[in-house]
Amino acid sequence: MTENRYDVLFQHAQVITMEDTGPLLPDACVGVRDGRICYVGEGRETPGAHKVIDARNKILMPGFVNAHAHTAMCVMRGCADDYDLHTWLHEHIFPIEARMEEEDALAGVRLGLMESIASGITSTSDMYPFLPATLRAAAEAGVRYSMTRPMFFLGEGEYDFDKTDAALELKEAMAQGLHGYDNGRVRVDAGIHAEYSSGPQQWRDMAAFARECELVLQVHVSETKAEHEACLARHGKTPARALHDAGVFGGPAIAAHCVWTEPGDWDIFRDWGVSAVHNPVSNLKLASGVAPVAKMLKAGVNVALGTDGCCAGNTLNFFEAIKLAALLQKGTTLEPTALPAYEALKLATVNGAKAQGQEHQIGRVREGLEADLILIDLDKPHMTPCFDPVEQVVYCARPEDVCLTMVKGRILYEDGEFLTLDAEACLFDARQRSLKLVRGV
Ligand SMILES: [Zn+2]
Repeated sequence: MTENRYDVLFQHAQVITMEDTGPLLPDACVGVRDGRICYVGEGRETPGAHKVIDARNKILMPGFVNAHAHTAMCVMRGCADDYDLHTWLHEHIFPIEARMEEEDALAGVRLGLMESIASGITSTSDMYPFLPATLRAAAEAGVRYSMTRPMFFLGEGEYDFDKTDAALELKEAMAQGLHGYDNGRVRVDAGIHAEYSSGPQQWRDMAAFARECELVLQVHVSETKAEHEACLARHGKTPARALHDAGVFGGPAIAAHCVWTEPGDWDIFRDWGVSAVHNPVSNLKLASGVAPVAKMLKAGVNVALGTDGCCAGNTLNFFEAIKLAALLQKGTTLEPTALPAYEALKLATVNGAKAQGQEHQIGRVREGLEADLILIDLDKPHMTPCFDPVEQVVYCARPEDVCLTMVKGRILYEDGEFLTLDAEACLFDARQRSLKLVRGV
């Protein structure tokens, strides 16, 4: 009896490696062992494998990185549509969030994890309360997950960093061993909600905490024109500049939205290793505008992609985000090559991995990297014919074309079946909890 060399072996796949030197392998074999990709090459090898997957007429590629999300908000999906950000937040979302309990949030998180896994998202950067419980749910579901409870302090009451909800939850999650759990699959991030929801003292304290614990820092930056201009009036500088001048940037950081950022902000991002995260669906739906993605990329900024909370964008459909990102840059610049398909796919994979500080672990199909992989079925009318797999994924594919999702070599989803989550229970719980939370029944 021959020993199995691989835990999982994909054969005859069309592989999108996301390697700039050779992004496509038309008929390849990919072997996975102990959570890592240990072979990428021609389909000639036929050694033993615990599970062999015939990937004929399928695309194998790195899983997507959702670099900005508020996953628990899935429990409030569709509760307030067609408002601008300020009205939406203050009159609809904040009152519901004020009565949200941990079990409500967890129902939303599990629902969101299901949707993410089925949409090919293997890694998420989340920002929300209920940090320890959410990270435990993500740990159990097998997904790659980074999360912060962000600093939010409007100057009411006495301020003591150690007593803020943010610091308490970050420290609790770290004390529970959630930071770095499963060799770094689950991580705690530092976070500042936004320039307008706290002040320089809070930013400095959170930045110091991030540096001390070597955490990625997440922050919302220049989402709306009003926010950007109010900061200019308040501090005489843009939100990115104000945060920078307070010493916030230095380690890896995620700046979500960046819709109204300016060239001087992009210099800060490039020079200080800050990744901008584009959330096209949310920004359009809340009438916030269109982020200057092509210009930021040209300025040398690492730009990743996100869904934002699903109360804003309504779904975690990552294919929609990828396609819109590409189309918006073409439509707003009148330049069809402003964001070509391959560049759009980089936003969703390698650039996201870099934003999370994980470019040496995930984002490419490469020997030695962790096996966060998805399979996309081409055997569909809207996927036929396929001349270029990259263009097919960006312009044609839908979440229902994802037929397998794997994180660290473990299959979480295959042919419509969730292997780590009880789908029926999650859906039932989310329906019950959402009615009680949003409608009070
Ligand atoms: Zn957000």
